[in-house]
Amino acid sequence: MRKAKKDDSGNYCLGIESSADDFGVGIATFSGEILANKSDSYIPAEGGIHPREAARHHAEVADKVLSEALSKAGLKPRELSVIAFSQGPGLGPSLRTGATVARALASYLEVPLVGVNHSVAHIEIGKLKTGAHDPVTLYASGGNTMVTAFESGRYRVFGETLDIALGNCLDVFAREAGLKHKKGLPLGAAVEQLAAKGEKLVTLPYVVKGMDLSLSGLLTAATTALQKGDCKLEDVCYSLQENAFSMVTEVTERALAHTEKKEVLLTGGVAANKRLQSMLAIIAEEHDARFNVVPLEFATDNGAMIAWTGVLAFQHGLVTALDESFVKLRWRVDKVDVPWIS
Ligand code: AMP
Ligand code: MG
Repeated sequence: MRKAKKDDSGNYCLGIESSADDFGVGIATFSGEILANKSDSYIPAEGGIHPREAARHHAEVADKVLSEALSKAGLKPRELSVIAFSQGPGLGPSLRTGATVARALASYLEVPLVGVNHSVAHIEIGKLKTGAHDPVTLYASGGNTMVTAFESGRYRVFGETLDIALGNCLDVFAREAGLKHKKGLPLGAAVEQLAAKGEKLVTLPYVVKGMDLSLSGLLTAATTALQKGDCKLEDVCYSLQENAFSMVTEVTERALAHTEKKEVLLTGGVAANKRLQSMLAIIAEEHDARFNVVPLEFATDNGAMIAWTGVLAFQHGLVTALDESFVKLRWRVDKVDVPWIS
């Protein structure tokens, strides 16, 4: 990151998100109004995300999604002041496609480019949309699962998954169970619907190690229980959710007890889940903390979160030179300075 020039100023930041399966474009004003948040998602014909196919999808829809966002915001490209993009973490081919679009736009429009950390962006959009100031955050999505809180200039990781992400665990199980993507319904939501009809707890692993957790053994055991054929799908979905969500809730509660913060924030795609929300609401209440959940539109990967975090970074003098704009596949949240928090 280089310092922005003194005279860099403007009112609108366009943010591009492309770290995995979603290609999103958002536009934010410098005061935090989200003027547009458009996206198009790659849905694999079968199996999980194929990085090159996702990148191909992003390249194909980029022009359309950009136009939709600009038209929703009522802006012409020349009115944009800053271009932000998701610089990592994520899948290389997907990230590179968004970064290429962002570089091209910033160069053509001669405006500053700001590389944004995807995980920081999930936290910042959650804070913006809920009014939380200094929360313990559970960020749970298809690619990430971590409990963070701000301390001494950065979001520190208090606990995280040691293997697969929570959303990934639900998605892989759903595919093993033969559930299909229905239009507008993520696989995790399909598991949630079935889990709501479950009654019997199937014994499955519960693995919290220190402040970290492991989900791959749980996934294998849930899949095996289903394949054996003596458990109902609804019961396995219910048990999978109960175990996985209790694990992330336990880690969040310990971080809350340690930091004594007064807010809990749930963000990322899995934040849509009502059962997870209710578990976190209980621990927040027990610690006299306010529970916040990011609104659905901003839960899953989106361009608005990149645009808003781009504004925060830019306003604090951070811009990314073209020769420093390479993507960072494993860019951890605790490696990023967040000077906008005092
Ligand atoms: P993201 O990686 O932030 O784009 O979020 C996508 C992840 O959120 C996928 O793993 C989805 O299955 C998951 N997800 C979306 N809705 C729900 C839900 N209602 N319950 C659980 N997981 C969900
Ligand atoms: Mg996604």
